[in-house]
Amino acid sequence: MNMKVSSPALHQLDQSHHFHPFTDLRDYAAHGGRIVNRAEHIYIYDTDGHRMLDGMSGLWCCNLGYSQHQIVEAIYRQLQELPFYNNFFRCSNQPAVELAKALVDITPARFNHVFFTNSGSEANDTNIRLVHRYYDLLGKPEKKLFISRKNAYHGSTIAAGSLGGMSGMHEQVRGLDYVHHINQPNWFVNGGDLSPEEFGIEVARELETKIDELGEERVAAFIAEPIQGAGGVIIPPDTYWPEIQRICDERDILLIADEVICGFGRTGDWFGSDTYQIKPQLMTFAKAITNGYIPLGGVMISDQIADVLLAHGGEFTHGLTYSGHPASCAAGLATLKTLHETNIIQTAATTIGPHLQSRLRELESHPIVGEVRGKGMFAALELVRDKHSRERLAPESTGAVYCRDRANANGLMVRQTGDAMITAPPLVSTMAEIDTLVEKLHQALDETAAHYG
Ligand code: PLP
Repeated sequence: MNMKVSSPALHQLDQSHHFHPFTDLRDYAAHGGRIVNRAEHIYIYDTDGHRMLDGMSGLWCCNLGYSQHQIVEAIYRQLQELPFYNNFFRCSNQPAVELAKALVDITPARFNHVFFTNSGSEANDTNIRLVHRYYDLLGKPEKKLFISRKNAYHGSTIAAGSLGGMSGMHEQVRGLDYVHHINQPNWFVNGGDLSPEEFGIEVARELETKIDELGEERVAAFIAEPIQGAGGVIIPPDTYWPEIQRICDERDILLIADEVICGFGRTGDWFGSDTYQIKPQLMTFAKAITNGYIPLGGVMISDQIADVLLAHGGEFTHGLTYSGHPASCAAGLATLKTLHETNIIQTAATTIGPHLQSRLRELESHPIVGEVRGKGMFAALELVRDKHSRERLAPESTGAVYCRDRANANGLMVRQTGDAMITAPPLVSTMAEIDTLVEKLHQALDETAAHYG
C-alpha cells in the first residue's frame, strides 16, 4: 500500500481533527475507527491491511460494487469538458437534460419531471417545498401537514430529520411542528398475536386515524420507504401497502415514496414502488443513481403536481448550487446505462437475490435468530434470547452491536439497527461471495451466542 502518511499517523490525525457523522465523538477521539483507502469489486481495504467483504454496498449505494470504471471515466470526461455550470437562471447542461429523460423513461408514465439535488436529505426537503407550493397554488394553503413513520430515516437536514422518526435523532433535532408520525409495519417487534396480514391492516389504518385526528383538510402528504431500510429492513406485510394506497387515494393525501435505498434494483425491481405496486405522486432518489461514486439526489415529480406548478406563473424559489451538476449527471447516465446493459436488476430478482434470501433463511434455525426477513438484495436478522417470546438477546441492542463487531472483525462489513443485523450486498456479488457472506454471518452469530450463553 503506497501511503504518504503512515497508518498510525493517519489515525491520529483523523481522531484529532475529523468529526464523523452519526458517531460518538468522544469515543472516536479516544479509540478511532477504520480508514478505508481502497476498494475493488465488493471488497474494501483499510490502511491497517484488512480486506473486508462489503455486505452493505458502502452505505446502501454502491449497488454495482467498486469497479465500475465506465462510471469513473464518464465523470472524468465530463469534468474535462464542462466541470461545472449551474442550472439556475434559464441555463442547463447536456448530462442533466439527458439524465432527466433517462429517469422519466424508467419511472411510471405519470412521472415526466425531475428536480435534482445533491443528496437524499435535500431531496426530501425538496418534497416538502414542492408539496407546500402545490397546495398553495391550488388554493389550499392550510394543507401543510406531513405524516411519516416512527423509526423512519429520511435524512439529516432539519426537515428530513423531522420527517424521520428515529428517537435518538429526535432528541437532538428540534422537529418541525408540521410533521407527525405513526407506527412502522414491524410485525416481529409490534405484531403481538396478530397474523402479519391482520397487523398490516391494523398499522396501515393508523394513517386514517391520524388523518382524522389532524383533519383531512390540513394533511398534505404521507411519506414512507417502500421497505424501511435503515430502520431495520422492515418488510411490510402484504396487506400494508394496498391499505395505505386506499387511504391516500380516498382521503386526498399525496403519497411520497422515499426510494433512496429501495431504488435502482435493491428490491429486485427498478423501484420499491414497482415491487409493491404503489402509485406515489413524488419519488425521492439518491445513493445508487450514481452507484455512490459522486453525490446526486433528486425527486421524480408526477404530472398531478408538475401540471399545477407549470400552469401557474411565479418562481419556484428553491434550488441548490449543484442541482444537476454535470459530472454527477454524467455518472447517473453511466450508471443507468450499466444497469440497462448488464440486466443486473433482473439477475438480482431471479438469481442472486433469491440465493441471498434462501441462504439467509437457513440461519433462522440458529438459537439466537428470531426472524430472517428480506427482499431482493437486502435483509435483516432479529437477534433474540428466546425465539418464542421474542425476548431481546441483550438490553440496549448490545447483542446486535456485539454481533456486528464480531462480523467486522472476521472481515464482513454488516450493520446493526436496534436488535437486528442488516445486510445489503452489491447486486454484482457472485453466488460464492453470497455464500461467504452467510458463512461469516453464521460465525458471528455463533460467537455472539457463545458470548451471551
Ligand atoms: N432517505 C433514505 C431512505 C435514506 O436511507 C437516506 C440515507 O441513508 C436518506 C433519505 C438521506 O440521504 P442522504 O444521506 O444522501 O442525505
